Amino acid sequence: MADLKLTGITKAYGEVRVLRDIDLDIKAGELIVFVGPSGCGKSTLLRMIAGLERISGGTLEIDGARMNDVPPAQRGIAMVFQSYALYPHMTVRDNMAFALKIAKKSPEEIEKAVDNAARILQLTPYLDRLPKALSGGQRQRVAIGRAIVRDPKVYLFDEPLSNLDAALRVATRIEIAQLKEQMPDRTMIYVTHDQVEAMTLASRIVVLAGGGIAQVGTPLELYERPRNEFVAQFIGSPSMNLLSGEITATGAMTTVKLDGGGVAGVAIPTTREDMGLRVNLGVRPEDLVPTEGAALFTGKVDIVEALGEVTLLYFAPEGDVETGVVAKLPGIHRDIRHSTVKLAADPAKLHLFHEGRSLLYR
Ligand code: ADP
Ligand code: MG
Repeated sequence: MADLKLTGITKAYGEVRVLRDIDLDIKAGELIVFVGPSGCGKSTLLRMIAGLERISGGTLEIDGARMNDVPPAQRGIAMVFQSYALYPHMTVRDNMAFALKIAKKSPEEIEKAVDNAARILQLTPYLDRLPKALSGGQRQRVAIGRAIVRDPKVYLFDEPLSNLDAALRVATRIEIAQLKEQMPDRTMIYVTHDQVEAMTLASRIVVLAGGGIAQVGTPLELYERPRNEFVAQFIGSPSMNLLSGEITATGAMTTVKLDGGGVAGVAIPTTREDMGLRVNLGVRPEDLVPTEGAALFTGKVDIVEALGEVTLLYFAPEGDVETGVVAKLPGIHRDIRHSTVKLAADPAKLHLFHEGRSLLYR
């Protein structure tokens, strides 16, 4: 069992500050996912926890002990990387045993640890193969096996699925979830830029952006109650729509008149001082539904993507899909292109942001 405490963690390369004031409590047995766009500092943060990168400021504690200056090998941590870098001339068994041999463990101990890891990862039939005779997914499992044999208190994963094709990514993702279930008392920190991996694996997600933490929460907290527009648009696909407007009635329910002409009732309380406040109304594509009544949004469908289980409708002002509205309707909708559609949404599913921050969290 190991919990981790990050207090005011900062990282600078020379003048360039990559991370600032990261405060985070990770409880023993959690599977925490760091997610964020490429270059936001996810690997840097993970490598500081592993001891592979110097901590510029702040404190890292594992089980209450300060770790800043403790060498990586003494932190009780094992790390799995995106590029699994197996020794090509060694069998699966020898690849997994390597670190234990270096650590001068007894042959019996090594055999037991390797057999156990192989069983957990369903690699037993492949123990005598060379890496080149394995699929990409099996190779990544060997890399995870190298971590398991060391029986660390904390597992760190840095984008372990990024080199796999789409089908293998899903299969290996599910294996990692099952692996975690077999080790309920082990703490895992998993880095990805893929919000689907974050949503499916995490007990809690840490969204990193602009050198800091944009939000920490369970996957559904982030989906249902994003703190800011960044998290709102990062979690969920396609991204949440943001429609600019102004608050025209306050109270237990809030009314927003949108610049595009629609009016929305929102189940978020506001006060009289909020009258006239400029806001962005957030609505997820899957929460927009066709209506015959009062519409939140009316537009001509520019592009249709029929995915089978859902149809995506793109409303692209001046042909710009990125700034336009997207709706996701269940089922197949043919012949809807170029027609005008009126859309509404359940007031309880709507979000309100002022200057980028959610009005829910004032
Ligand atoms: P992520 O893993 O989220 O994609 P990284 O942690 O790898 O991001 O990098 C975060 C930022 O730190 C990037 O802007 C990157 O260019 C910078 N960076 C990483 N390593 C170094 C280094 N050794 N020297 C200078 N800048 C670095
Ligand atoms: Mg990275």
